[in-house]
This record gives sequence, structure tokens and C-alpha cells, in this order.
Amino acid sequence: MAPTLPAAVGFLAGIHQDGGRPPQRVFATVASRALWTQHTAGQSLHAVLLHSGAPDGAHAHARDTTLLLAGELYNREQLLPLLGRTPPGSDAALVLALFGAYDVHAFRLLNGRFAALLAAPGRAVLATDHAGSLPLYVSAAPGRVLAATEAKALRAAPPGQPLPGRPVRRLPGVRQVPAGTVLDLGVGTGRCTSHRTWAPPLARRVLPEEDAVEAVRRALDDAVRARVGPDVPLVVLSGGIDSSSVAALAAAHCRPAPVDTVSMGTDEADEFPQARVVARHLGSAHREVTVPTDELLRRLPHTVWAAECTDPDVVEYLLPLTALYLRLGGPARRILTGYGADIPLGGMHREDRLPALDTAVSHDMDTYDGLNELTPVLSGAAGHWSTHPYWDRDVLDVLVSLEAGLKRRHGQDKWVLRAALRDVLPHETVVRPKLGVHEGSGTTASFTRLLTDAGVPAGRVRHAKRLVVQELFDRVVIEGRHPDDVATGAVVEHVAAGLVPR
Ligand code: AMP
Ligand code: MG
Repeated sequence: MAPTLPAAVGFLAGIHQDGGRPPQRVFATVASRALWTQHTAGQSLHAVLLHSGAPDGAHAHARDTTLLLAGELYNREQLLPLLGRTPPGSDAALVLALFGAYDVHAFRLLNGRFAALLAAPGRAVLATDHAGSLPLYVSAAPGRVLAATEAKALRAAPPGQPLPGRPVRRLPGVRQVPAGTVLDLGVGTGRCTSHRTWAPPLARRVLPEEDAVEAVRRALDDAVRARVGPDVPLVVLSGGIDSSSVAALAAAHCRPAPVDTVSMGTDEADEFPQARVVARHLGSAHREVTVPTDELLRRLPHTVWAAECTDPDVVEYLLPLTALYLRLGGPARRILTGYGADIPLGGMHREDRLPALDTAVSHDMDTYDGLNELTPVLSGAAGHWSTHPYWDRDVLDVLVSLEAGLKRRHGQDKWVLRAALRDVLPHETVVRPKLGVHEGSGTTASFTRLLTDAGVPAGRVRHAKRLVVQELFDRVVIEGRHPDDVATGAVVEHVAAGLVPR
């Protein structure tokens, strides 16, 4: 079972053949730091692990090979029989043992939320989970490889060579390792081979209703169980079908203890009544947190800092949750969300004709990579660990591959999910229409108003939001300023002044 928090939630590591050292240890993630150095075969490894008290579980060693693992695995029970001897204790030891047996193909076996670095003489292997849900960045040149789970830790890296992966705005030598990918690098030569370890299913399965419903229920229940951990988890609950389903399954795994749920709203909008219906039904220990809108907007720099994302739509989804996490206080929690269900289920689709639904699903599954929507750093910046059952590898495989008519059916979006959970949720929750967190919290509206109040014409708000997010990224990621020292209002004024000739 997963511990309260993973052994490590992030890292920065440098492999050098020339005695060099990795750059600054700057992270948004709040955690303890374990530093260590190791010299083998003319190569040094310097590492900083972000951990919550037990960093030894995040690194494993066999002969002259070292593995660092941030995050956690969800299919340990499936994996252990593959090794057929004393089971490795930690997830890191398990991955290293699998690497001994399968080499890079070990990463095709894993269902998890992780980023990994393996250092062997002359060789560096970097791996992301199927969804790239724990971002991983790399910079390399012959003789050295730098890797970190936050791009800002590499912002002062010396210029690197071209590598496969996604470029990062204004960090020319840095690449983001793609989702579901292993990069196998020669440390001395800088040569790099890339292996895909997962791809979204392209085919669609035709199933009788009952079979589809049962497959979804089982996969989601397994994913929630694998994420619950030894203590009662906290579910961020909007009262929509996605998070209510997660809360209901988590509640069943926690019984007789009540599961914890929390809902956020602002002084302008909330979904408190809808969430309360679910909390009451499940008997959860429920909290409501109201974030004043001015505080919400002040958290824009923190959101961009944590997610290292320049997509304004994504930042708008992430902002209310970031503001909530920063308000939670208390000891480090394991947080379960309903994030991401709409992508494989085409939940935003509003009409009965099916072709557009599969177009949307295929497009979204082709383009999620690099947006960092699922990053644990959002909650990590408040010292918590979040995990998203709908983006479990096995849940995703089931959801994506169902034929569109099971997703949109009987006039309902996400029909198969609603049907799969109808026995554990109130009817009004099962049939409740979709409301995005950016809508339910008034975030889109208040960000828009901030811009129009600054003089941005209505027709240019979208463009202005993009510019604001880019400028915030430049301040907090590229220039390395702390988000507390970056005022959203000043950046908005600056963007507005550039748009409106005075
Ligand atoms: P949504 O955009 O509605 O799909 O929201 C994504 C996820 O964020 C949900 O599944 C919840 O886990 C969480 N969430 C959304 N709205 C709230 C809210 N008002 N309070 C707490 N969590 C929320
Ligand atoms: Mg919602």
C-alpha cells in the first residue's frame, strides 16, 4: 500500500565525468532535502532528493548502478511476482531490480506517478510515467547530464546539446522528457536513444453496456485503492460526478473511518451546496474553504511557478486548486482528485452526434503532454502530495478505448462513468451536468475582469491572458523570482499597457 507520501517527491541530479556540480537547488516543492554524492568509474553523481522523512526509499543501488525515483508505483502487486525472490522493499528498489531484468523496457511495465533517473557508468537513463504526470527536465552535453523534476532548477545550466523532447520557453538547453518515454543517454558521447513506453489507445472497444460499466467501476476502484495510503486521504470535492466518484470509492476503502473531503469556493462563486449533498451522503468529514477573489488572483504567480505551464487555459483550471492547497495548512496530506476524467471521456461534448466526441478525445490525448496539468508540484508547493485516479494507466486504457457511444449515451455526457457509480452516489449527483473548476469558482470571470478593468478590450482578453501567463513564467521560472515577490496586478498593468496605446 502506498505510504502517506512517496519517499521522494522530486529531485535534482547531475552526472559528471569532469568533476562538475549540478546548478542551484531551487524548487517550488516544499520538502526536506537529502544531498549526497557518489563517485564510481570516473563519474560523479550529485543528487538532491526532496523527501518527507524517509529519503532512503527513493534511491536504490546495485553494483555501480544507482536509481533515483520521485513519486510512486500503483501496480507493485503485479510487478513483484516478476522478480521471484525476496521482494524489494521500496518502489526505487523494485524499479532497479526490474531494470536489471528488462533494462529500459522495465518502464513499460510500470503503472505509477513518477520520474526516474538511473545512473550507470557512462550511461544515464531518464524515464517518465505513461502520462508524464511528474514532469522531468534534462540538459546534457558530452561529459555531463543534468536532470530535475522542476525546470527552474536547471535555469542556470550551461548550454546543452539538442535532445529529443519538448523545448521549454526561454531555456534553450533544457528539454522536458515526453510522457511515457525513456531517454537512454551516453554520458561521454551525449548520444541519446528515445523509447516510447506508453501511447494512448487508438482503437475503440465495442462492449455491452453492463460490461463497459463493470470495467470502468473495477478499474477506477483499483486505482483509488492503490492511491488511498495508510491514513485517511483527503479528496478535493466539487460535487461533480468525477470527484464525487473518487470520494465514494475512497470512502468505501476507509470505512469505518470517515474519508476527508474539502471544497473550495470564492466570495463570488462556489459549488458548496452540491458538494455538501455528496459529503452528507458519504458521511465524510467535510470542510469548505472560501478564498477571497483578490487572494485567488494573487496566486497566479504561484500557479505558474509550480506548474511551469504557459497555457492560459490550463493555468485557469489549476489556479483555484493551487489557492486551495496553499490554504489547507496542517500536516502533509495525500490528496485524491477527480482531475482529468473529461479528457478520455469527452466530457465537454454537448450533443448527441458522436464523431465530434472522438475527434475531441483523440485530439486531447494527442496534446496533453507538456501542459503539466497533472503535476504534483501544485500541491507540493504547500507540502502535500496529490494523485489523480482517472489518469491511472489502467483506467486511462479502459476509458480512452471505449467506443464513443458509451461515453455519450441516453442524452448524457460521461454516461459510462455515471452508470458505474450510480449505486454509491445520490441521484442528483449522478445526473449533475459538468461544471469546470474555473467556472464553479468564478476564476475565468475574475481573471477576465482584472484585465478589462486594466483597459484590455474584450476582444483581446484571451491574448492578454496568454501574455500575462508568459510574463509570469519569465519572472518566476526564468528569472527565478519567488512568486510572493511578483504582483499579479503589476504584470497585468504591464501587459495592458503594451496592448492599449495610451
Ligand atoms: P473540474 O474542472 O470540475 O473537472 O475539476 C477537476 C477536479 O478538481 C475535480 O474533479 C475535483 O477533484 C477538483 N475540484 C473542482 N472544483 C473543486 C472545488 N470547488 N473544490 C474542491 N475541489 C474541486
Ligand atoms: Mg467540476
